[in-house]
Amino acid sequence: MTVARYDLLRRALWLGRVLRSRLLQPALMLVTLVVFTLAIVTGLFGTPAGSRNFGIVFVWIVWWALLIVVLVPLFGRVWCMMCPIPAPGEWLQRRAIVRRNPGRPRTLRKRWPRRLKNMWLQNIGFLGVALFSGVILTRPSVSAVVLLAFPLIALGLSLLYENRVFCRYVCPVGGFIGLYAMMAPLELRTRDCSTCRLHRTKDCVAGNAQGYGCPWMVYPGNLDRNTYCGMCMECFKTCPKDNITLNLRPFGADLFVSKSHRLDEAYKAFIMLGCALLYSAVFLGPWGWLKSWASLESLPNWLLYAAGLLAIVLALIPGLFRLCAALSDRLAGHRAGSRFVTYAYTLVPLGLAAWIAFSLGFVFVNGSYALSVISDPFGWGWNLFGTAHMPWTPFAPQLLSFLQVGVLTGGLLFAASMTVRFAGDGMVDARRALVAGLPVIAFQLVMTLAFLWLYLG
Ligand code: SF4
Ligand code: SF4
Repeated sequence: MTVARYDLLRRALWLGRVLRSRLLQPALMLVTLVVFTLAIVTGLFGTPAGSRNFGIVFVWIVWWALLIVVLVPLFGRVWCMMCPIPAPGEWLQRRAIVRRNPGRPRTLRKRWPRRLKNMWLQNIGFLGVALFSGVILTRPSVSAVVLLAFPLIALGLSLLYENRVFCRYVCPVGGFIGLYAMMAPLELRTRDCSTCRLHRTKDCVAGNAQGYGCPWMVYPGNLDRNTYCGMCMECFKTCPKDNITLNLRPFGADLFVSKSHRLDEAYKAFIMLGCALLYSAVFLGPWGWLKSWASLESLPNWLLYAAGLLAIVLALIPGLFRLCAALSDRLAGHRAGSRFVTYAYTLVPLGLAAWIAFSLGFVFVNGSYALSVISDPFGWGWNLFGTAHMPWTPFAPQLLSFLQVGVLTGGLLFAASMTVRFAGDGMVDARRALVAGLPVIAFQLVMTLAFLWLYLG
């Protein structure tokens, strides 16, 4: 199905000039690199009290909320354009920061294994971080070590492999940004596919004097989803046909590109939804014992917590969903289980809504810490901007509940309408499509009620 799109650059010519500038990405990366370095240094040398440490407050409250509440839902992968993590490795590969260094990036030219060209490593990485999140999100020194590990791994991989192998196949954050970027109303696409087909030199892939070949190993001429385009804007510079643009389009348009539905991405959707539920229970729920289990205060209890998390995320949620999807298949007259992966994409809007609701809860309750740590990032008693002694003040608790209910309801309605559309694929009878979708919608409803129960008590 074709959807309406609005070519932003046809009108905003200045935006095209900005996006073609070789300065844009390095300038943004330098800014985030400074903040990222400060987060690591304060984590390592600052106070061990998480709520008084810049590293914890700015990464896990401010950056996280900005990413999941604003950047991903509205702008897709735009964070990847400015992310500091791959910057040192990429600059070393290119032996340049701003200018286009002639020749191919310098690496050992190893080949990334074919069987790892998917999201499974990112799924495993995210689960690894999730298992230790009770420690990472509260202890500044642990958080700093984890943050430091990311650019070091990215650097190591960029010495071995060409391009952004870390971002594309390894980064646990990049995995879920790619999944949820499909919801964004912004996309980078070619204006005309036939221009690409006829263009023999494919400068966007091979690179030219103006820029590098796509560092994310994407061919823009085939791009039909936001998932793997890191919005680095390199193809804006290399395309000699002026065939790349930014479009506005309806929310979630990529979710209906059915030829691209894949099991690794489906599992990413299960893992993200399950982790949103568990994070909500651990960090916002009333169960102190659960928080202490997740915080690794005793190894046997943490092992129980880890086993529970893995069982819920990898077995219980996908298992129940598979049952519902099989029932929907039967009702739609399909082979049971044949649309399991397709139906899993209905959990993308629901999962994103759940993460937004969770993050709003986190930021409304704990956001005021940002004002005090900006004046005293190490917790050493400084008062740089006169805000160090601002008391902890939860922000508008009544508004928070309304926002969480609104976001979760929106996510559920979006997921349910997708389900009916998937169930009705090839059917003319809309009522039959609705009936066929009911088991999957029931699953989505139960999940939404579970989140509402956690948030509203
Ligand atoms: S360089 Fe431009 S026209 Fe050529 S294949 Fe790439 S996007 Fe298409
Ligand atoms: S498609 Fe273009 S913007 Fe996207 S990652 Fe590749 S070069 Fe960068």
